[in-house]
Amino acid sequence: MMMNIPLTVPAMLEHAEKYFSHKEINSRTATSFYNLTYAGLANDTRRLSSALTKIGLRKGDRIGTFAWNHHRHLTAYFGIPGMGGVLHTINIRLSAEHISYIINHAEDKVLFIDAELVPIIEKIQHELKTVQAYIIMTDDNTLPETTLHNVYHYEKLLWEGDENFDFVKDIDENDPAGMCFTSATTGNPKGVFYSHRGIVLHSMSLGLADSAAISESDVMMPVVPMFHVNAWGLPFASVWFGAAQVLPGPMPTPAVLAEMIENHRVTLTAGVPTIWIALLKELENGSYDTSSLRAILCGGSAAPKSMIQTFEKKYNIPFLHAYGMTETSPLVTVSRLKKHQKSYSEEARLDFRSKQGYVVPGVEMKVIGKDGEVKWDGKEMGELLLRGNWVADEYYKDDRTKEAFRDGWLHTGDVVTVDPEGNIKIMDRTKDLIKSGGEWISSVDLENALMAHEAVFEATVIAVPHSEWQERPLACVVLKDGMRDKVTKEELLDFLRPQFVKWWLPDDIVFLEEIPKTSVGKFLKRALRDQLKDYLQTTSK
Ligand code: AMP
Repeated sequence: MMMNIPLTVPAMLEHAEKYFSHKEINSRTATSFYNLTYAGLANDTRRLSSALTKIGLRKGDRIGTFAWNHHRHLTAYFGIPGMGGVLHTINIRLSAEHISYIINHAEDKVLFIDAELVPIIEKIQHELKTVQAYIIMTDDNTLPETTLHNVYHYEKLLWEGDENFDFVKDIDENDPAGMCFTSATTGNPKGVFYSHRGIVLHSMSLGLADSAAISESDVMMPVVPMFHVNAWGLPFASVWFGAAQVLPGPMPTPAVLAEMIENHRVTLTAGVPTIWIALLKELENGSYDTSSLRAILCGGSAAPKSMIQTFEKKYNIPFLHAYGMTETSPLVTVSRLKKHQKSYSEEARLDFRSKQGYVVPGVEMKVIGKDGEVKWDGKEMGELLLRGNWVADEYYKDDRTKEAFRDGWLHTGDVVTVDPEGNIKIMDRTKDLIKSGGEWISSVDLENALMAHEAVFEATVIAVPHSEWQERPLACVVLKDGMRDKVTKEELLDFLRPQFVKWWLPDDIVFLEEIPKTSVGKFLKRALRDQLKDYLQTTSK
């Protein structure tokens, strides 16, 4: 038999402490820039774990963080699991009602809060049933004025901790190390726990050559927030593998991101398509050196083909399209060409790479359509089911577990096709599919096609009720600056016409100033439907 050594989060940091002590983390905070090494991070982390123990926290306690991407948050990523606690990252962009729900549901004992976000928590403090203390992360030597009680200054607390603290040893690899909530279409957010084991195995998958291939030579900049699926697990993997890190801090603008890429010679960055659409605009207007980038890792919603093409052709920045969800840690698929596909035509290669790709080793999938498992013909649509060692198997104390986790599989609610190579293509969320005359129309396909038009900045497509066809597609388009008087609905429809069968074409196109987005930058179709309620009432047939 083989040895059986628990896979734990503190062991990942200990590895970096030993072998990558000089590697750097560059961090932007509300008022400053910080630079620390992995030796410094390990020292801070030991102090933090020790300090949390001193203030009475124990193994299994949930400890919330309400913060942007910076070095203090990274310290909490390791310091909380390092003393046996559960790192509960809270999405700062949720409604006050949802924030208090998830803090209460997780039963957080302590909250780490960025000073500039304190007012949000002050407003809901009376709703919080389990929080006993607050740790404020600030660049100032003193605490900001606050109505919160039992407040600690993060840096001062750290200095009371012991730099020789030994990380907990009595943890089972299946103990929870992290927790995150995902927004539901209706009702309260749903919580999932990440085990130590799940985080370690997921990190390993991020290092595989045919996945994100994170290595010691990388300079990693996660733009995806550390309050959303552990910034896709990138901080954990980067520490373990000794990659340098660049943490872009509060509300990074596209200009801040472009500057950080240039100044720190970032090799790999990650985020949702809306970030990259905005960065493209910045690159078009300014002059930045982005030559250090070996890839942009993009997921969270479908990456438009036109965007991939512009990054690669115009800026020589390779693009890596990936798919996952909060419930899956998140990495599930990465879109990479197989060896024999590399000689395909440019168009064919781009077509493949704009799909979501095939599952990384360690995750299994099954796609169930109307008549059982779908054919791998790139046409038949079905729901994607997943299982694997970094896939959750329940929602925390939530009845919706029954619906999503059945027969050992996570039912994702994503509708996909599978091509003969095993690549999935996300056609829609089950709830967003447009069903016209009994046939499905993919809103994602129409959106991507519209976003390939040179005048279009963003586009989304929603269903409009229709008496004869049940539903018909309506396109909502934001044009690029200066394009308002230059392009008409008819021109956009003419642009789509050769690409789709007739009945897929939107019945109408409305021009908007902005498309409402979710807390993590995805198109919020529900809000769009509300916004267009009057329009929908007058036009629905
Ligand atoms: P979240 O749990 O907030 O990360 O959202 C997960 C959902 O985002 C998935 O179930 C998909 O609907 C969507 N998603 C994630 N990655 C992609 C992608 N590359 N293309 C299309 N949709 C995606």
